[in-house]
Amino acid sequence: MADEFCTELARRGGLGPPVAYGKTWTRVHEPLAWRDTADALLADAGVQVIYHAVATGVLMEGGSRVEGAQIWTKQGVVTVRADVTVDASGDADVVAMAGLDSFVGDQGRVQNPTMIFRMMGVDVSAFLGHYGSDTIMGEEVGALIRRENDAGNYALPRSKIWLFTTTRPGELLCNCTRITASDGRELNPLFHRDFTEAEINGRLQIREYARFFRDHLVGCADAFINDSAVQVGVRQTRQAEGVAKLMNKDILAARKFDSSIARSAWPIELHAGAKPKVEWLLDDYYEVPYECFVPTQGEGLLVAGRCLSAEHEAVASARVTAQCFSYGQAVGHAASIAVRDRLPARSVDPAAIRSRLNNDGAHI
Ligand SMILES: Cc1cc2nc3c(=O)[nH]c(=O)nc-3n(C[C@H](O)[C@H](O)[C@H](O)COP(=O)(O)OP(=O)(O)OC[C@H]3O[C@@H](n4cnc5c(N)ncnc54)[C@H](O)[C@@H]3O)c2cc1C
Repeated sequence: MADEFCTELARRGGLGPPVAYGKTWTRVHEPLAWRDTADALLADAGVQVIYHAVATGVLMEGGSRVEGAQIWTKQGVVTVRADVTVDASGDADVVAMAGLDSFVGDQGRVQNPTMIFRMMGVDVSAFLGHYGSDTIMGEEVGALIRRENDAGNYALPRSKIWLFTTTRPGELLCNCTRITASDGRELNPLFHRDFTEAEINGRLQIREYARFFRDHLVGCADAFINDSAVQVGVRQTRQAEGVAKLMNKDILAARKFDSSIARSAWPIELHAGAKPKVEWLLDDYYEVPYECFVPTQGEGLLVAGRCLSAEHEAVASARVTAQCFSYGQAVGHAASIAVRDRLPARSVDPAAIRSRLNNDGAHI
């Protein structure tokens, strides 16, 4: 699925080549081409998409069986019935509505939100010529941020920042901000006041970083903010309590599981404090078991994406995009096997899911 998506994205000119990210590589996409690609693939697959709809309730049968959801649209409430419902809300909203077990971060502490933004008008060759090709900015920039903060010239709460060249000329994609409340409190976007404050403070903070870039970074003297992300970026909120939980130690131990349905080689990338913590997995990968997507109780409901059952540092690795694609693909197969064989979704054999994934071209 990730491969198919990348191929189509590249065909539309929306995917850059691999760029260095510390000890690994990443690829930068163009957001509009991403949306076009997603629309096209969904249309090709015959999916009925309902945009601008919020799930507001869950349809329960007999106290524990999920039979679909109620969604709020501009024409009112729409009821969607399904043999298997997949909660891919990122926030385990359906799990919570169904009253199933969930948890939030490390005893309620979650990774900080970040407002992504794009600078245009950058002299990219001067920028790359000076700073090199690693998208994780080196100590020169980190030290400068700390010095300027100490001198009272700027308020830049994160000194380890990531700047990516993109598919467009003269553009940098900026992953720099660390959004906290105005009183310094860490924010949890599950709370509507925190989510709103993150949005507002995020927009304020990108102006401050852009001012610093213009004043101090090579190639950025004439740069300007093109746009912010469509909303503040949320890394972590509520997650499903699953039959299994991916543990922090499983990541760096590169643990493999008999019931694996996905692989990940991404580092632990924990966003907390002025310097995000990055711990690398070199020349190895860990696996994610199917049971991380199966809630502890109830029937008819699976989860996919970043609301999987995984500990705080484990989800700081397992939450990233290509991995979420692979979870969605695997959970989609699980749901389809459950419907075809009239099985409870929790009873689907992970080997059957793997077999379907491998038929799709995965190597698990
Ligand atoms: C700042 C930032 C930078 C990142 N950088 C990278 C990166 O460089 N590389 C990488 O691979 N990953 C990166 N990630 C991680 C990655 O983007 C996310 O973890 C991933 O998108 C999670 O996917 P998801 O589908 O599980 O959740 P989300 O992307 O959060 O999607 C959930 C969707 O569900 C919708 N939704 C939520 N609740 C409801 C409801 N009740 N009813 C209806 N719809 C609902 C939301 O609107 C949203 O569209 C980054 C994340 C952040 C925040």
